[in-house]
Amino acid sequence: RAKERGNRYQIYANELNAIVSEQWTMERNLRGALERGEFLLHYQPKVDLQTGNIVGAEALVRWEHPVLGMLSPAKFIPLAEETGLIIPLGDWVLREACRQLKVWHERGHHALKIAVNLSTRQFQQKDIVKDILHALAETGVEPAFLELELTESMVMQAPEEARETLERLKEIGVQLSIDDFGTGYSSLSYLRSFPVDKLKIAREFIHDIPDRDGEKIVNAVIQLAHSLQLQVIAEGVERQEQVEMLKRAGCDEVQGYLFCRPIPPHELEAKFQTFNSS
Ligand code: C2E
Ligand code: CA
Ligand code: CA
Repeated sequence: RAKERGNRYQIYANELNAIVSEQWTMERNLRGALERGEFLLHYQPKVDLQTGNIVGAEALVRWEHPVLGMLSPAKFIPLAEETGLIIPLGDWVLREACRQLKVWHERGHHALKIAVNLSTRQFQQKDIVKDILHALAETGVEPAFLELELTESMVMQAPEEARETLERLKEIGVQLSIDDFGTGYSSLSYLRSFPVDKLKIAREFIHDIPDRDGEKIVNAVIQLAHSLQLQVIAEGVERQEQVEMLKRAGCDEVQGYLFCRPIPPHELEAKFQTFNSS
């Protein structure tokens, strides 16, 4: 009996060891990857529903792994968060997105905005406002063209600290939007007491259009957000009927596979012309 339990414990310990060492290898790899320049950004366009023009793009990080190939953020962001590597990685994303935006502005796409995702740890870090100011100054991007995407839970975890940070970011002049809206439990009226500009309706809700009560919920969120002077974007738009419904509801912008997947910067640049002239 005791021996059996001992064996079982041994197996468990071995597995645990394997997991720990895998994590450790991955962590070391992550650090090296940043130094070797293996991260890159793909961009997914945001489309104005009234005009059909591309008005912005969301920067989404990828890891071009020498052996495993292109890794999606789900594979490494959680570990980067856990280990604190998200701070230098997030800072790189911010600078790289601003650098790319500056290039596009200089090539004549003057009105284009860029959106960057912030992680919880990055947002709670005391130098975040300084880092953002630095990225803007270094690249010469005007603050109004940078949009920061944060989640409800990031704001609600420590509302008073978040309020202070958000107010300082608003003073700089960047745009603030709430990502994955509807997946948390915050009320829209409470959220409105924070200086945010835009809501991004979570793709779970868009997915339910036209089934179930998806359409009713999305409609209500859009009306309420507009009455509170908030702009609305829908993410995860995959079907034309969703576009029609969102148009009827007065949604401002859309983003999703129906229009375009996240793509490398040169491919997006080619789309500026085709989209914005038709
Ligand atoms: P997110 O911010 O909600 O980003 C949208 C995700 O939805 C992207 O996945 C995008 O490829 C995917 N998507 C876009 N359109 C559609 C659609 O029509 N249908 C479906 N099913 N999915 C769609 P991705 O690029 O794998 O990113 C996943 C998450 O990783 C992001 O979710 C974000 O939370 C995080 N992430 C990505 N880049 C960064 C970054 O630079 N920093 C931080 N902190 N997080 C990032
Ligand atoms: Ca996002
Ligand atoms: Ca989202």
